[in-house]
Amino acid sequence: MGNEMLSAIEKQELKDLLVERKNIVLTTHTNPDGDAIGSSLAMMHYLRKKGHNVTAMVPNSFPGFLEWLPGSKQLIIYEKEAKKVQKALNEADIVFCLDYNSLSRVGSANDVVKRCEAPRILIDHHIDPETENFTYCFSTTNTSSTGELIYEFIDLLGDKALIDKEIAENIYTGIITDTGSFSFAANNEKTYVITADLIAKGVDAQKIHKLVYDTFSENRLRLLGHSINRRLIIWDNLRTALIYLTKDDLLKYKYQVGDAEGVVNYPLMMEKINVSILLSERDNQIRISFRSKGDFSVNDVARQHFKGGGHRNAAGGKSFVSMDETIKRIKEVFGNYKEELNYKLSY
Ligand code: MN
Repeated sequence: MGNEMLSAIEKQELKDLLVERKNIVLTTHTNPDGDAIGSSLAMMHYLRKKGHNVTAMVPNSFPGFLEWLPGSKQLIIYEKEAKKVQKALNEADIVFCLDYNSLSRVGSANDVVKRCEAPRILIDHHIDPETENFTYCFSTTNTSSTGELIYEFIDLLGDKALIDKEIAENIYTGIITDTGSFSFAANNEKTYVITADLIAKGVDAQKIHKLVYDTFSENRLRLLGHSINRRLIIWDNLRTALIYLTKDDLLKYKYQVGDAEGVVNYPLMMEKINVSILLSERDNQIRISFRSKGDFSVNDVARQHFKGGGHRNAAGGKSFVSMDETIKRIKEVFGNYKEELNYKLSY
């Protein structure tokens, strides 16, 4: 299901490809999260250790709670330094595509990545990758995170011994941020075997938990309180909750990138709620995050109705009509799934 793993021949080709020093560009998705950043930095350190010339690019800025990650200052933000990225892509022998399944996810850097003729190597865990756009696909949904796949990729190339503390911390951060610290997408024994090895390589789990989660500003905590107290709508008959944040809300609480991260998860703490939705108003669109418990696929709904997608229990989308209109549409769309929303969920 959704698996595009490498054949034995392709594995050998990749090994051969990475023997000699290459110019390599790492790319990841727009609005990069812990897994996108952790995966990019783990690969950057690993490939440099192997002697390659590596440029790691992110389309736009990333949340402050990821700034402690080893090497994060070396990430080149395309929106700020497009020319640097363009130059690296012009000279690239290989482009890695990390934690995304479709070139459109690279956002504003989409065109320059597309125009680059170097072979593209995909390492990702989202459903249905655009296989036609990647030369090699190391992709499966049966994993916790792209971070975990980076570990396996390094192992596949016979380089497990090169995984040091810096690489391990980056991979570990990808795994915990994409699993809510092992609370979802974490039913594979393999994830824990890999995590155990990362701990052996020097990861301090308690320290990283603090660095990733206990980093709220006062404004961020108050925005969370406001979201739950003033902006939460509950549709009991659909077992669905929705939080909407207007531009004015974001302004009032001096919104910083990442401040709304995790807000969408709170409504799921209610026993009666199976789906939670967060709307966040931006300049020319409304960003939508979907979360679900159990079998209900928010990926399907996001894909079919809200120009997005992601995973079964966590997906994103967007809307180009007003906040009121968007809420109305969401209620309508989810109304069509009333039965599934009420009965399908088994745990
Ligand atoms: Mn991911």
